[in-house]
Amino acid sequence: MSAPLDPVVLEGLGLRKHFRIAGVLSRDRHKVVRAVDGVDLAVRRGSTVGLVGESGCGKSTVGRLLLRLLEPSAGTVRLGGRDITASRGADLRALRARMQIVFQDPFASLNGRWRVGDILAAPFRIHRSIEKGAVRARVSELLHRVGLTDADARKFPHEFSGGQRQRIGIARALALAPDVIVCDEPVSALDVSVQAQVINLLRDLQRELGVSYLFISHDLAVVENISTEVAVMYLGRIVEQAPRDRIFDTPRHPYTQALLESVPIPDPARRGRHRERIAGEVPSAVDPPGGCPFHPRCPIAEADCRSVTPPLAERSDGRLLACHLR
Ligand code: SF4
Repeated sequence: MSAPLDPVVLEGLGLRKHFRIAGVLSRDRHKVVRAVDGVDLAVRRGSTVGLVGESGCGKSTVGRLLLRLLEPSAGTVRLGGRDITASRGADLRALRARMQIVFQDPFASLNGRWRVGDILAAPFRIHRSIEKGAVRARVSELLHRVGLTDADARKFPHEFSGGQRQRIGIARALALAPDVIVCDEPVSALDVSVQAQVINLLRDLQRELGVSYLFISHDLAVVENISTEVAVMYLGRIVEQAPRDRIFDTPRHPYTQALLESVPIPDPARRGRHRERIAGEVPSAVDPPGGCPFHPRCPIAEADCRSVTPPLAERSDGRLLACHLR
């Protein structure tokens, strides 16, 4: 008998985000960008879902929709089973304590005029979650949790390295003990050796605190390192989703296969010896191709692929796949 699945913490159902093109003089002003075009995605307690795809595929928009930082054009967001799509004002602010974000650029996301101690104290002051007198002790605890010291509370963000600044960003995200953190390309701006330290920190924190992550990245090596489950996005849709090893050992969607072939991961036995760029460019999300959105770049496309959109459907091995031929 298989073990029961952990409960879902954060979930999007049928999420769409269509942006109208701005500018009265623009030729395309009546058109919409289909940034996210029907995404179902669930993050379970204590798990890490890696969301991968080329730049512009809509993965960061999915993260912001789930956090309610963007209004969906359609679909539902649930936190701990509760529909929060229509939450506003004080209700939404309270919910924000339970779902946090770590950004790609820690320098831009930290107020450079504030000392680190004040940055980390701000969530407690805004949410009035603990007594005033206890804030200092909690700030100290957060600093130690992410490998910094009490003395660091007196410094400004510019006095830290990129990796240390990302640790501060992670500490701030952890302050209110959230259920889930959306990590949006959190190590892309860091050196490879520092990336490993931050990934290890995130993993340790998950083990200690049980926090869940939605880990958004274009870097497959990083996603393989940290994820328990992986969803692959292409042009606003998920095209394949499965437990991490199934995606990396036996990818089935032609786009997932092409992505894995295109990255220089140092394991030729698993990935094939030749690294090739995926043919063609990502089509515009303003005028996406009909049928399967990947058909203009797919090496095995057939006639049906140009006219019929394949649904994301469960296969016999449990993975979700959107392809007519696989
Ligand atoms: Fe390729 Fe057709 Fe599958 Fe799309 S549906 S990925 S075009 S084979």
